[in-house]
Amino acid sequence: MESFNKVTIDDIDVFGKRVLLRLDLNVPIQDGSIKDKNRLITALPTINKLLNDGGKIIMCSHLGKPKGEANKKFSLEIVAKELSNLLNKKVKFLDSDIVINDDVKQQINQMQNGEICLLQNTRFRKEEELCEENFSKELASLCDIYVNDAFGTAHRAHASNVGVAKFVKENAVGYLMLDEIRFLGNAINNPNRPLVAILGGAKIEDKLNVISNLLVKCDTLIIGGGMAYTFLKAKGYEIGQSLCDNSKIQYCEEMMNKAKRLNKKLLLPIDAICANRFPNPIDENIPTKCFKANEIPSDYMGLDIGEETIKIFMKALKNAKTVVWNGPMGMFENKKFALGTYCIARTLTELKYSTTIIGGGDSASFVNNFGLSSKMTHISTGGGASLEFLEGKVMPGIDAINNK
Ligand code: AMP
Repeated sequence: MESFNKVTIDDIDVFGKRVLLRLDLNVPIQDGSIKDKNRLITALPTINKLLNDGGKIIMCSHLGKPKGEANKKFSLEIVAKELSNLLNKKVKFLDSDIVINDDVKQQINQMQNGEICLLQNTRFRKEEELCEENFSKELASLCDIYVNDAFGTAHRAHASNVGVAKFVKENAVGYLMLDEIRFLGNAINNPNRPLVAILGGAKIEDKLNVISNLLVKCDTLIIGGGMAYTFLKAKGYEIGQSLCDNSKIQYCEEMMNKAKRLNKKLLLPIDAICANRFPNPIDENIPTKCFKANEIPSDYMGLDIGEETIKIFMKALKNAKTVVWNGPMGMFENKKFALGTYCIARTLTELKYSTTIIGGGDSASFVNNFGLSSKMTHISTGGGASLEFLEGKVMPGIDAINNK
């Protein structure tokens, strides 16, 4: 990794100090239970390190989008309970509709070394997302040291992950942040080559800068999923009812020219599994047909990559030494259109001596759901954050931390 110049939790002494620890505890909750605990599990190494070193740990995070108002639906209480289980230690939940009140302050003042608590959802305060100084200062007043380990929000500049750092003398990044920066940073800036990047998913608009930056950094760029059809249209192909962003056709042409100019391989689907209506995830009886990518009939839409495309993509991955993947190859929520995504995931698990990095979001949940995560080198906890990292952007959440 290029030398990382930020203070980390290995550089600080937290014994007897109040440590405000910003985590990304934004877990999916359904019918009153946590559906995916990955973000809690990946937070444990930093929490344990700070507890073992005798700090008084005050955790904070956002959860969902309560839009600046207290809303029990987005309470972090359930997360405090689950963290208590995972840590085998009582995590005190400091409930307040305004996150910090006199009672919360008093409870923090009474904490002993090695104790841990969790504040209420920081997004119950409208000042959070506006990164306002008053809330940043309130948060800062709770602690002696501020630690940010919330990679999933590192691309946002909010009070609890950016604003607060300015008002706390000692601050540092945690282990999760370090891991993410190390794996994503190395893959992009110092990869073992060939570096193959795979992009998929629906919205091309979210990935414009990623495509452009990855073309510079990688040796081969594979594009699948819904976003591939705008490229195919730009090539003059008949794509029927497939997803297409007409405002980005010219951009796709530019990217194809850029690939040629840089002598990079840009691989697009050559065939597609199609249906003549948009399926819902459980519509498993929907009839499908495979068409060549330039011959999709006007009443059909491409919903997964076809077998010939799978073969080409797998061949391109065979000799890769580094792979970065973000976005599914098809509408994987419906089993009939999940084969392309599954084959890519399987191929990555079979690569020997390669670094495989899954860039959060849908591809990460796919890999987790199929039990393939232990076979990948790194699965990012941040969908949007990892995309911005791949764009080569400065991340405000990292930037705000003191330099060594
Ligand atoms: P994104 O949020 O841009 O990464 O897109 C993820 C979504 O893309 C998933 O919900 C997929 O169902 C969807 N998707 C992938 N391929 C296609 C496709 N060919 N047509 C429509 N949606 C797709």
